Amino acid sequence: MERRVRVRFAPSPTGPLHIGGVRTALYNYLFARQHKGDFILRIEDTDSQRFVPGAEEYINESLRWCGINIDEGVNEGGDYAPYRQSERREIYLKYAMDLINSDNAYYAFDTPEELTSLRESVEAKGEVFAYNYTVRTEFATSLILSKEEVEERINRGDQWVVRFKMPENEIIHMKDLIRGDIAVNTSTLDDKVLYKSADSLPTYHLANIVDDRLMEISHVIRGEEWLPSLPLHYLLYRSFGWSDIQPEFAHLPLLLKPTGKGKLSKRDGDKMGFPVFPLKWVAPTTGETARGYREDGYFPESFINMIALLGWNPGNDQEIMNMEQLTELFSLDKVGKSGARFDPEKAKWFNSQYMQKRDNSELAESFLVELKERGVDCSLDMAIKVTSMIKERTTFISDFWGESFFIFEAPKSFDEKVVAKFWKGENPIRMAKLRELLAEVEDFSASNTESLVHNWIKSNELPMGQIMNSLRLVIVGESKGPSMFDICEMIGKEETLKRIDFAISELA
Ligand code: GLU
Repeated sequence: MERRVRVRFAPSPTGPLHIGGVRTALYNYLFARQHKGDFILRIEDTDSQRFVPGAEEYINESLRWCGINIDEGVNEGGDYAPYRQSERREIYLKYAMDLINSDNAYYAFDTPEELTSLRESVEAKGEVFAYNYTVRTEFATSLILSKEEVEERINRGDQWVVRFKMPENEIIHMKDLIRGDIAVNTSTLDDKVLYKSADSLPTYHLANIVDDRLMEISHVIRGEEWLPSLPLHYLLYRSFGWSDIQPEFAHLPLLLKPTGKGKLSKRDGDKMGFPVFPLKWVAPTTGETARGYREDGYFPESFINMIALLGWNPGNDQEIMNMEQLTELFSLDKVGKSGARFDPEKAKWFNSQYMQKRDNSELAESFLVELKERGVDCSLDMAIKVTSMIKERTTFISDFWGESFFIFEAPKSFDEKVVAKFWKGENPIRMAKLRELLAEVEDFSASNTESLVHNWIKSNELPMGQIMNSLRLVIVGESKGPSMFDICEMIGKEETLKRIDFAISELA
């Protein structure tokens, strides 16, 4: 029988979710949807020292904003609950003990001072220190102490940890769905801590393996930074006797800085002027803030589309894909091995593409909020008209005002450069004549004024560019904006004439 696809996104709540984390969540989600499986959110909060209040809520809200729907998780519940590791703490000790009993792990009682002193003496000899088969017998561990001594130490309250007993000089063969076959010699690995008596909590490695098994995870899709842990994870599955049912693994390529050099870090955004987080983040202790895609005006669909293509492509040039299309097309085979360069300009390009697809009335509703804040009175109908006129020139809703302020406000002054260029020669007189012509027009629709004005220009053999640029100066105050006839229709006849009058007297 085919195994049911169950994948998990397993962030640690140590701060805001980076876009790399969103990509991991997205690929897991697409994979689950495509295989009609389950997408699980598991919060890995066993490292109490790195716990950041608010981070878990941030993760949930980010996924919700992105349209990544969780099947089982901390808020959703599910058959494998709880999904927060701190609420599963009773589970893990038994597994740590199983590993000790099967001689795959041991108690270590060394103090931080003992560890430092041994490390220093090894390093003094010019060697690299690793806590592994070369040094493990030099410490007080259950490998050398008698059973009674171990019990005595535990009973009197000595602190201990459980460490994995990494085999010596064994080649571990692993399979990664993106990277293919990988082999590592265990002598290059150390005896990782799996459990700590100090807080009665497992470390990431133990909790992660135990939970993936108990939650029947079929595929682990995660960032490349976890690849070095893969041999240990293989060995943990083997030690528990779970090799036959262990998940398959896929490690996603790194996200690189826009320069292509080095890993995209959480600090790069502020340094380089683009967000690296899905939502705005306010650090709970320092109050420091970091920008978010949502608050910067990105549409979630565009954000997701952009993220999906960081390390994956559908095998052709198709770039614009919604969640459904992504679900259909996604495949781990087409995820690259090498780092994916993050391009903030491309992110903007995606947003402008999605802007064009967006419903005008929805955009207009958002624009009305800004207009209201600016004290501009505008109906929804009018806002929709303005939206359809300017949206092809915009990337964000926050661009709308800059592209349409002249609809709502008559110019009070005029761009000097444009004045110098066009308010000369015959042009002021031509504007006065144009005013006369427009004053007679009854149907002020763009198409009608356009044909009347063009005919007038032609029959009087006037210079088209000079006339149209002068008119723009008079109506807008500068040399920007969409079609002049659209603008005139929108502000109406009375306002058009008023603006021409004002400019003629003001610039005289
Ligand atoms: N808690 C780990 C993290 O923060 C999960 C790694 C994994 O998916 O195994 O990324």
